[in-house]
Amino acid sequence: MVDSSRGYVPPAMPDGVLNPTYDSWYWSLDRIDQDLTWELAQRSRTLGFKTYLIDAGWDTVAGEYVKGLRGSTGNYLAPKESFPDFAGLIADIRNRLGMKVMLWMQQYALGRRSFYYPTLGNALCLVGDPELGPPAETPFLCPRTYAARRHMVELFGRVLEDYKPDALWFDWQEEIPQTCSAPHYHEYERFGDGYNATQQTIMETIRRISPEVFVNMRWPFANLNNKPYTHLWQPIDSAGDFEAMRLRAMVMRPFCAGIVMGTDEMYWDPEISDPQAARFMAAVVFTGVPYFGPNILEEPASRAGMLRGWLDFYEANKEDLVGGDFHPYGDRDRPDQYIEGEHAAFVYYGNRYRGPVRFSKPVGRLHVVNASALSGIDLWVVGLEAGRYRAQISDLDLGNEIDSRSVQLSFSSRLRFEVPVGCLLTLVRMP
Ligand SMILES: [Zn+2]
Repeated sequence: MVDSSRGYVPPAMPDGVLNPTYDSWYWSLDRIDQDLTWELAQRSRTLGFKTYLIDAGWDTVAGEYVKGLRGSTGNYLAPKESFPDFAGLIADIRNRLGMKVMLWMQQYALGRRSFYYPTLGNALCLVGDPELGPPAETPFLCPRTYAARRHMVELFGRVLEDYKPDALWFDWQEEIPQTCSAPHYHEYERFGDGYNATQQTIMETIRRISPEVFVNMRWPFANLNNKPYTHLWQPIDSAGDFEAMRLRAMVMRPFCAGIVMGTDEMYWDPEISDPQAARFMAAVVFTGVPYFGPNILEEPASRAGMLRGWLDFYEANKEDLVGGDFHPYGDRDRPDQYIEGEHAAFVYYGNRYRGPVRFSKPVGRLHVVNASALSGIDLWVVGLEAGRYRAQISDLDLGNEIDSRSVQLSFSSRLRFEVPVGCLLTLVRMP
C-alpha cells in the first residue's frame, strides 16, 4: 500500500544482484590491503563466489573506521600504502577472475581528518539546543543542505569513473540526526524531504554514469522509504548467529516486494564443528542471496567442500530460492520457513513441528535441510504428488549420497528420515 501510494516502480535487476558474495569484514575489519584482497578474491572465486565485496578499509587508511568524527572517513580514495593500484586490483578481480566487485561506502559520514572536511565541514549536522550551549558537531553530512547533495554528485561521479565497481554497499544511514541546529542554510525544511532528495540525487548519479550498478542496503535503512534507491536488502549485522540473521531477514520479507532479499555476510568461528557450520550455510542459502564472511584463511580444509556444495546448490536453484513464494511455518515466536518455487519446494527444518507444512501447488521435487541441532527429521507435509519418490540423503558437502532409496509417498505424508545435522534430504518424484 505504501508502495502504490508513492508510485513505487521496482528497478530493473542487473544479473549480479543474485550473485553469491564474499566479504571479510567480520574478521579482517578495515585492516585490508591489495595483497590480502587479491588472495581472498582468488580463494572465494574457487569456492564459487561470484561477487567480492571490498568492505571498509579501501576508502582511507586502516584504523580510521572506528574514529568516526575524529578520523578521515569520507575520503573514498584508496591509500597508496595499502592499495598501490586499487583500480588495477578491481580490474583484475573482474577480468582475470570473472567476478563482480562491490564497494562499501558510508557516504553521509565525514571525519575531521578527511580532505573534504575543510570545504564540507560546515555542512555537518550539529545537534543540541544553541540556547543551552554550543551544539555538538556530528560526523554526518546534513542531507538538507545543497552542499551535501552537490558533494554526492561529485563523489559518486569520481568513485564510479575511477574504480568502476559493479555494485555499492551503503552503510550507517540510520544515525543521521533528524534535527539539525547548524547555522548552515537548510534547502529543505523537513529532514525527510532533504534525505529523499539526496538519496534521489545519488541514485540518479549512479544511473547516469553506470546504469548497471546495483545498490545493497541493510536494515534499518533498508526500509519502505528507501526502496526507490536500492535493489537488495539485508538484515543488520548478525555475526556468529545464523538464527538471529534468519529471523531478522524474515521480518523484512513482508515489505520487500520489488526488492531482492539478501543475507548478512554470515560469519562463524573457524573452531566450530562441520555440522554446526553447515547450519550457518543452510540458514544463509534458505534466506536469500547468500552473503558469506567466514575466515577462509583459517577455516579447516573440510569447509571448502561444504561451502562449494552449498553455493552449487544455490546456483542450481537460485530462481526458485530467491524468487519463490516464501512462507513461515511452525512456532510463531521462532518460525522456520519453506519456499515454493516453480520447479521445487524447499523446507528449512530448524525445529521439530507437529503441524503440517502445506504446499499450495503439487510438489514433485522437495529439498529439506536438517538445520536443527538433532539428527533426523520428522515432518508432516501436505500437497505432494502421490507416487514413488527417489529419496536421497546428502553428506555435508551435498555432493555424495549417504543413502538413496525409493519410497512411496501420498498427498499427505509424514517424512521420517535419518538426515544428519546440516545435511539435505531430496525427494524427486519418479516417472
Ligand atoms: Zn543541517
